[in-house]
Amino acid sequence: MSTPSRHRGTEFDRVPGPTQRTLITNAVVVTMNDAHDVHFDGVVAIEGDRIAAVGPSADVLARFRDGARIIDANGGAVMPGLVDLHYHTAIGRGWSDHLPLLQILQQFWYPVVRAIDPEAVYWAALASYAESIRCGVTTVNDMYRHIDALGQAAEEIGIRAVLSNIVADDEHGLDSLEDNASGHRSRHGSANGRVEVMVGIEWLPLASIGLLRDASELARDLGSGIHIHLNESVGEVEISKEKFGRRPTEVAYECGLLSPGCVAAHCVWLSDTEIGLMRDTGTHISHNPTSNAKLGNGIARVLDYIQAGINVGLGHDSTEGVNTGDLFEVMKFASLMQRAVRMDANLLQAGDLLRMVTRNGSAALGHETGMLAQGRKADLIVIDLDDVGFTPLVEGNRNQLYSHLAFAAHGRAVTTVIIDGTIVMQDRELLTVDERKILRKANEAFVRTLDRADVGSVQTIV
Ligand SMILES: [Zn+2]
Repeated sequence: MSTPSRHRGTEFDRVPGPTQRTLITNAVVVTMNDAHDVHFDGVVAIEGDRIAAVGPSADVLARFRDGARIIDANGGAVMPGLVDLHYHTAIGRGWSDHLPLLQILQQFWYPVVRAIDPEAVYWAALASYAESIRCGVTTVNDMYRHIDALGQAAEEIGIRAVLSNIVADDEHGLDSLEDNASGHRSRHGSANGRVEVMVGIEWLPLASIGLLRDASELARDLGSGIHIHLNESVGEVEISKEKFGRRPTEVAYECGLLSPGCVAAHCVWLSDTEIGLMRDTGTHISHNPTSNAKLGNGIARVLDYIQAGINVGLGHDSTEGVNTGDLFEVMKFASLMQRAVRMDANLLQAGDLLRMVTRNGSAALGHETGMLAQGRKADLIVIDLDDVGFTPLVEGNRNQLYSHLAFAAHGRAVTTVIIDGTIVMQDRELLTVDERKILRKANEAFVRTLDRADVGSVQTIV
């Protein structure tokens, strides 16, 4: 693996020292705090990796202007970076769009991830993270293979990453708990704590009771969280009932996997009993509506989960599954699907969606991000509001601004991204990596992996 060249700015310019001060001026500051404060003529002050102040321009400038580097937001919205709560680095987008979940896993995804080598993971992760950063995602909860390669990619590009392995019983040729423990030893807490490692479990069809119990014990030993797929499809629930005599979330509960450190992905088909187990254990849910729809898995009862008091964030899953890493799209469809299926236009409003994609995702991972407030980690994005897609916008109108951000925005509206106090993208240019080289290398890695996996025959034929 080689280190991509930095082609703009110096290390000193980009990476904050402990006291380096940055001001984002001329901004509409969307704080996502409890009061939903928006400062229409606002400034965010950053010192080192944390937010030092948020508020009206006159107030913050008076206190923080001295010695500060200025980023002019040009009247754009500044909001917390988005948290993609269920994520897989992806290498093979656009290959088998016609297959339902079990078939796409067995005929395409598992063969590809079994064949992938660390160098291919490194380039695939860089390409995936580059797309996410371009779409305003500052944190990914990434379950994939070869944590060292993932960690190196995350460290270099500058994204906040929580990594886990695709752990399954040995006969499936994926990852072991030892792989995951080794990844934890080598990468957990690296890059100023920006890269973390938790324990992953692929899903119950590939796991024994022994493995599930060992996974919860490992997570306890490491003091780490757990990332698991649960109740994604009707087929998975049926397999679980046949294999274990119980539904997936009931088995996960009995094996000690559910806790406030656990992120359960999908949860499309939870029974009332399973909703109660999620709530009682403080488990977080990643709702992934676009993935669930495209793979034909159904529409989760997400409003019932929220009503029960479960913390629900949003994820895109993978671009093999859903073709885009744009979390703005996921946010919009989360609402549209509930409204369509329940025939109620009052459901999941803009403020609800913006909370899910920022604060809720951050809380699920135990992070100090997700809100623009003094003392929080400086993970934030700038959105160009001078765009036909955000017209009209009545000055000072928070509700219309929220509506634009939740229902009209796309990732391409994001101009600047700051993560852990470091400018990772400015004026739509990634500063940390050579993006063209990444895309070329990721393409080469796919062709090489495809050849080794021998899955060319499952390509969608148009
Ligand atoms: Zn997934």
